[in-house]
Amino acid sequence: MKNIEWSSLTFGYMPTDYNVRCYYRNGKWGEVEVCSDEYLKLHMAATCLHYGQEAFEGLKAYRCPDGKVRVFRVEANAERLQNTSRGIVMPEVPTELFTEMVKKVVRLNQEFIPPYESGASLYIRPLLIGTSAQVGVRPAEEYCFLIFVTPVGPYFKGGFCANPYVIVRDVDRAAPLGTGMFKVGGNYAASLRANRRAHEQGYASEFYLDAKEKKYVDECGAANFFGIKNDTYVTPKSSSILPSITNKSLMQIAEDLGMKVERRPISEDELDSFEEAGACGTAAVISPISHLDDMDTGKVYNFGEKPGPWSTKLYNTLRGIQYGTVEDKHGWTTVVIE
Ligand SMILES: *Cc1c(COP(=O)(O)O)cnc(C)c1O
Repeated sequence: MKNIEWSSLTFGYMPTDYNVRCYYRNGKWGEVEVCSDEYLKLHMAATCLHYGQEAFEGLKAYRCPDGKVRVFRVEANAERLQNTSRGIVMPEVPTELFTEMVKKVVRLNQEFIPPYESGASLYIRPLLIGTSAQVGVRPAEEYCFLIFVTPVGPYFKGGFCANPYVIVRDVDRAAPLGTGMFKVGGNYAASLRANRRAHEQGYASEFYLDAKEKKYVDECGAANFFGIKNDTYVTPKSSSILPSITNKSLMQIAEDLGMKVERRPISEDELDSFEEAGACGTAAVISPISHLDDMDTGKVYNFGEKPGPWSTKLYNTLRGIQYGTVEDKHGWTTVVIE
């Protein structure tokens, strides 16, 4: 293993030895290339630079207590990227190619996979971009699909804890019929202003209501929302939220643990009735919400200063599956290194 101070890792970028790339030209994907260069040579008129033909994914590889390295629901990430490709008119990366490249890049950089005890993991970042020149607004003819990895620290350095969020009304990350359900950089560009302000005000993240009516709950920055009441896991249904694989997994686990699960519109008023609430995504699994401030109305929704019992149980179960210590009865993990 590399000589890295695993315990001081954050969610930043650290160079690793290799990335893997595959190019789409003349209507087909080429051979997978292993590359040690961190830079891309790009045409200045590439569509990714001008017209946002850019999509990404995010997943993690975990060094487990049994010594194996596992990745979590890699096929689901492949399918989501395919859906995003259809959304912004890019060629689809076949699931087999996606999975092969994920395995390859993890194995090539195995010295960078943090030890289990550190709580850190290897973040995997697939990226698909339009690379050929275009000045008129049209999709590119050529694309580059690449995957790099970088070790990242545990999200909760001082242990699993709850954080405050703030409702924003003056910025939307996505339009109701826009690209909110696709994992594209453009949604992130749209959210940076609100995100920076929320951080400056001491919040973990900004919190979006639906763009049309500002009446229903959408997302917690770049994470999905869930609320819990009466042993029921409730998560929003909306045309502008990103289908989180963590959320999808939590819905299944909630059901397995005997909870009821509801996916439906959640009005802002209903927030008052939740006993627990959280943001969910690959980075933190669950980031419990202590309170949610609505600065326009002065309303504060409280969900508890400490993670609630259901959130804790869901978090421990999902982490356990990822680390191979809880039975993986849905076949979600793939062993990449035995
Ligand atoms: C990636 C992402 C999520 C979380 O998805 P996971 O698959 O659970 O990591 C949630 N919201 C947005 C906007 C995202 O881009």
